[in-house]
Amino acid sequence: MFQPVNSKVSFPDVERKVLDFWRERSVFQKSIDARSSSPRFIFYEGPPTANGNPGIHHVLSRVFKDVIPRYKTMKGFCVSRKAGWDTHGLPVELEVEKQLGFTGKAQIEDYGVAKFNDLCRESVFKYLKQWDSLTERIGFWLDMDHPYVTLDNSYIESCWWAIKQLWDRDLIYQGYKVTPHCPRCGTSLSSHEVALGYKDDTVDPSVYVKFRIQTLPPPVAADASGGFTLAEALSRGKVYFLAWTTTPWTLPGNTSLALAEDADYAVIELGDEYLIFAGALVGQAGLGDQPALKTFKGGQLVGSLYCPLYNPHEFDVERKRAKEGQPGQFDVQESDKYLTYKIINADFVSMEDGTGIVHIAPAFGEVDFQAGLENNLDFVQQVDLAGNITGSYSFSGKFVKDADAEILADLDSRGLLYKTAKITHTYPFCWRCDAPLVYYAKKTWYIRTSARKDEMIAGNRQINWYPEHIKEGRFGDWLQNNVDWAFSRERYWGTPLNIWVCRKCGRYECPGGVEEIRGKPGLQGYSDGMDLHRPYIDDVTYTCSACGGDMVRQPEVIDCWFDSGAMPWAQWHYPVENVELFKQSFPADYISEAVDQTRGWFYSLHALSTLIFGQPCFKNVICLGHILDAQGEKMSKTRGNVVDPWTVLDSSGADALRWYMFTSGPPGNVRRMSPDMVVEVMRNFLMTLWNTYSFFVIYANIDNFIPGKTAPKITSELDRWLVSSLNRLVIDVDRLLDDYDPTAAGRKIESFVNDLSNWYVRRSRRRFWKSQNDDDKLSAYNTLYQALVTLAKLLAPFTPFIAEEIYQNLVRTVDEDAPESVHLAAFPVADESLIDPDIMAGTELAMKVCSMGRAARSKSAVKVRQPLPKVIIRARSSHEREALQSLCAQITDELNVKEIGFTSEEMKEDKNLSVVAEGDYQVGMVTEISPELLAEGLAREIVRRLQTMRRSAGLEIADHIQTYYEGGEQIQAVMADFADYIRQETLSTAILQESAEQPAHTEKFKLAGLEVTLSIKKQG
Ligand SMILES: [Zn+2]
Ligand SMILES: [Zn+2]
Repeated sequence: MFQPVNSKVSFPDVERKVLDFWRERSVFQKSIDARSSSPRFIFYEGPPTANGNPGIHHVLSRVFKDVIPRYKTMKGFCVSRKAGWDTHGLPVELEVEKQLGFTGKAQIEDYGVAKFNDLCRESVFKYLKQWDSLTERIGFWLDMDHPYVTLDNSYIESCWWAIKQLWDRDLIYQGYKVTPHCPRCGTSLSSHEVALGYKDDTVDPSVYVKFRIQTLPPPVAADASGGFTLAEALSRGKVYFLAWTTTPWTLPGNTSLALAEDADYAVIELGDEYLIFAGALVGQAGLGDQPALKTFKGGQLVGSLYCPLYNPHEFDVERKRAKEGQPGQFDVQESDKYLTYKIINADFVSMEDGTGIVHIAPAFGEVDFQAGLENNLDFVQQVDLAGNITGSYSFSGKFVKDADAEILADLDSRGLLYKTAKITHTYPFCWRCDAPLVYYAKKTWYIRTSARKDEMIAGNRQINWYPEHIKEGRFGDWLQNNVDWAFSRERYWGTPLNIWVCRKCGRYECPGGVEEIRGKPGLQGYSDGMDLHRPYIDDVTYTCSACGGDMVRQPEVIDCWFDSGAMPWAQWHYPVENVELFKQSFPADYISEAVDQTRGWFYSLHALSTLIFGQPCFKNVICLGHILDAQGEKMSKTRGNVVDPWTVLDSSGADALRWYMFTSGPPGNVRRMSPDMVVEVMRNFLMTLWNTYSFFVIYANIDNFIPGKTAPKITSELDRWLVSSLNRLVIDVDRLLDDYDPTAAGRKIESFVNDLSNWYVRRSRRRFWKSQNDDDKLSAYNTLYQALVTLAKLLAPFTPFIAEEIYQNLVRTVDEDAPESVHLAAFPVADESLIDPDIMAGTELAMKVCSMGRAARSKSAVKVRQPLPKVIIRARSSHEREALQSLCAQITDELNVKEIGFTSEEMKEDKNLSVVAEGDYQVGMVTEISPELLAEGLAREIVRRLQTMRRSAGLEIADHIQTYYEGGEQIQAVMADFADYIRQETLSTAILQESAEQPAHTEKFKLAGLEVTLSIKKQG
């Protein structure tokens, strides 16, 4: 006997029971231990941060991380799954700063770095419980008891080892470079971090600024074309270069203007002034109706001198210039009251927008900085690291973006502004704190990733990306445009950068681990087991082996993306420990995260692995799209449309949520979701499956069916069809999961479950219902049992709970030797000899014809239970006709008709023929109803009423009844003519024409205009 199954199931209740079972029996651990000597399948967990509550998008990635390892386990692999936590970095510091009400770094220093970092350490596991319980609840099997944690000393040491590998290969350098800098966080961002924070709809000023020319090259000044020379206007100070910018706050740092030597520059008259800028852009500047009075080549204008908009010496700002041959070093220049700047030629000047004259501020742009080095330009940096204007301008002390308006007003009052407008463009913001980034020249430590760009690109070719277009698209492009990785951060809570410098001779060293540091001469401030974080590590000094000076650590910490990218070895504290274990688990067979990680974790993994091990560290990756709400809007707290995973789990359950994630769309697509959509999945898929399962158990128990007894030879076409479809399904699902396509695999299962319920079970109902236990009935039981058990195993990776529930009842209750859990069972293997393409094609066609026949019947408004004389089918070929003829019994039964006819003519609808067409097919229902058919229809209606009454009287399916009726002549005739049929269908031992003695269950009906009273009584 199987455990009775309630058709009114609560999936969340079933799941909680299954969770208890897994926990009590340590099923996850057993699934690994049982395969300790099997081939390994390596999964890497991308570490989440536990300082926020896990959301619905985490469920998405976690169920995709789960499905493949579960499948591989059932395929015989040993799949250990170590959890990981990302614990360092700005996000953590920002949380603590918020908590303390801090707005900048100075407050952290005052508060004390030790205390600050203690709070960071506490906060990173604030939501650990929520993560643990959600992970368990959704059925993501992950070893949460032995996670790798990036703040552990062992983890930090493995990062140090990695940095040392890069250092020894000359892949680390310090550059005085322009970096994207967050003025609020006070630190540089790497280019992949910058890529995370672009906003398309940023409104900025669009400004045309006039630079007063001091000197023009003599041939230009003396040129008399157009009947005048510029020399006279020049002497009045009325000739200007026109340049364009969207960052007015950089204008006080302007030290040059660049133009293109081959381009044409026009002289335009405006009032008593002359403006010079690219002829091609005159229209864009709004001066299209002004004739060009003269035209010069850009090359002729190079060497012109102009007056600074703001002479830095008048505003207490230093003017510096690079030392020859030492791009990282600057000399302060003498004060100069008559300071002028020069015009240069540059190949980056665009004729697409602006004025063809580019404003150069070497302190605030990468291109500008480079142009400054090449042309020995002045360097004026009138902004501090907090993004505030320094010096004694009228707008000093203001944040750069806030100073824009005042700078423009000031220029306007001095007649130096030609035009201002607003522009909407793409601008980068800090991905953590949302402050606008400023490009800022400063010293930063770099990893020379660009030196290994070709290897990274070649390695990427070996990776299987799902979806495939990411490989050469989003990820490939990112590698093609690779720039060096600025990986130092001027912050507190992170893996400290392990580079020491000699205070005396300036020599650098990069110790690769604790052992190496312990061996340094003159070591001070070090103690065994000390916390390797700041500020403690900052006090560790030792003696310079070259000059005897003090070696001190550089103050920076490193980018937390480096931490997560180092997890392949750092999770094992390699190479200090676990050398063999690391080798066995490198590279990974499978990883999965959302698509934004192409510039985050996917990149940091790939870059570090390529630079250190010369190969990629993951072979297959499912790259997930983002989740939107039902309307296609981004989910956000402010919109109030965030879906809480717990609401969904408590109402629909984890299997429904998982199934939704897997099958609602391909993994790489953006997916919409709402709790209702998951409810729909539960109803459409899980309930269909459950009802089929419950149907089977109810009848199997009534008939005392015991699986595993010798099965009769299959003679039924229905059984042959189901067995064939099932074996085909096993092959398909296996192949698709092997190809990392849970979506297509899940959809195959879904369509099979539909056919199982809506065709096989419906068509077989009578076989289970009949009273004799013959071979046909046994064959039906065997076939349905096989299908359900195989389905449980196929579904185990997708919906692990319901799969377990069905497996326990159908398999474990009858076979104690079967594996303890469906997740310890082997994945099903198909028997290809049982696949019969003809019967599958034939049945598919029969299903199609029936669905058209039902449509034709409903068009004519004849009730389903009313038998009709004939269905006429127009098929495409004689082969199809034969296939349908062989399934004739199924079709006539399904459509409740007496016979099938075929035609090759086109059918026309008339009052006795209802026709539905689809492509080349036509199905016509003959709707003429004879008195005999009408009587049969009445008998069927009566049976249906009696069955409903049995249910409302609370009878068991196998209970026998006595049926009583009262009605007119016609009813009496029907009851007499169809007595056997009615008795069989309703398990009536007697049908009596009288009113039942109470107590009885009695109801009155009107059928086809005839009054009838029915009563039932339980027998015995
Ligand atoms: Zn920031
Ligand atoms: Zn030294």
